[in-house]
Amino acid sequence: MLTDTPGIHHITGIVRDAQSNVDFYAGVLGLRLVKQTVNFNEKFTRHLFYGDETGSPGTVLTFFPYPAEDDGRIGTPQIGTASLTVPPNSVSYWRDRLRTRDVTVEGPFDRFDETVLRFTDPDGTRLELVTGESDVGPWTDGPVPARHAVRGIHGVTLLSARVFVTASVLETLGFELLDQEGDRVRYRAPGDRATVVDLLDRDAEFGREGAGSIHHVAVRVPEKDQLYEWHDLFRERGYDVSRVKDRHFFHSLYVREPGGILLELATESPGLAAGVDSDPPSTSLFLPPWLEEDREMIEGQLRPLDPSPGTGTD
Ligand code: ZN
Repeated sequence: MLTDTPGIHHITGIVRDAQSNVDFYAGVLGLRLVKQTVNFNEKFTRHLFYGDETGSPGTVLTFFPYPAEDDGRIGTPQIGTASLTVPPNSVSYWRDRLRTRDVTVEGPFDRFDETVLRFTDPDGTRLELVTGESDVGPWTDGPVPARHAVRGIHGVTLLSARVFVTASVLETLGFELLDQEGDRVRYRAPGDRATVVDLLDRDAEFGREGAGSIHHVAVRVPEKDQLYEWHDLFRERGYDVSRVKDRHFFHSLYVREPGGILLELATESPGLAAGVDSDPPSTSLFLPPWLEEDREMIEGQLRPLDPSPGTGTD
């Protein structure tokens, strides 16, 4: 039987340069580089995973660096913004930390009952830090003091081409309409982390996929068996849905909902520690068993990457 998703699993974006991505997400935002691997569909493209200590579902941001990628344009239908949770008393710490590192920060703004800082990463990916409670523990071995550390994903803001249809898909997945402020309609999943999806009901120009655009958002599904049920439900509705895929760290499927947003449904297990028996796992390139025989060729094609980030000034 299908059950409501408890919330977001991960968010995946497209960027140009792997090193500046590590320096920003690990060095400035203080997330853990949990895993460096390759795009399982394009083995000569890196795939970087950031999150809490173990990369638990609801904390994970992932990026594909394409060195020759053109700039994307943020617009419909796309995921416009990724938001991360920070403790309520950490807003001025973060505003100062970002400004000290030459990140242009807008805010703080009040939105619903939260405080929001808005900025972009080096590729133009739109990000927010949002105050709130979360069951995610801080990553304590990074450059940010534990009391201010990011506590996982807060949510995403969607720029749908058909807002009412996307809203109905969110409700099918288990999100409930929570509130509205201006043209921002808030949906929330019933879990303890990474639960917020905001829909912006406004006219926006068309987006273009490229560096700085968010490729997809994945929501959590408890069991692999449920993916097949979701697959059948989406196919009955005529949605553009993929088969169930083995992503090594999870099983998943992709669905392009009728509002144009690419969603993934991903299982919570086995998780990012799957197949790794050394710690820290992020200092070397992880390859799943089916790519291990190509390791030398793959490593020879990838640009070198220093997984220990520069942290800017402290
Ligand atoms: Zn994904």
